[in-house]
Amino acid sequence: MAVPKKKTSKSKRDMRRSHDSLNVPGISTCPQCKEPKLPHRVCPSCGSYKGKDVVVKED
Ligand SMILES: [Zn+2]
Repeated sequence: MAVPKKKTSKSKRDMRRSHDSLNVPGISTCPQCKEPKLPHRVCPSCGSYKGKDVVVKED
């Protein structure tokens, strides 16, 4: 197995980790039921998109 010749400095290690953080997905609210939902997706609670009922919930 390849072994690194030099210890990675704190600076280089942290530069590598600068891309590791997770980003929070965007949250928008449904205009019909005011529930939080992901943008550009059909609302999971009322099944509407752009103010129209797209998916009919069976309950
Ligand atoms: Zn909704």
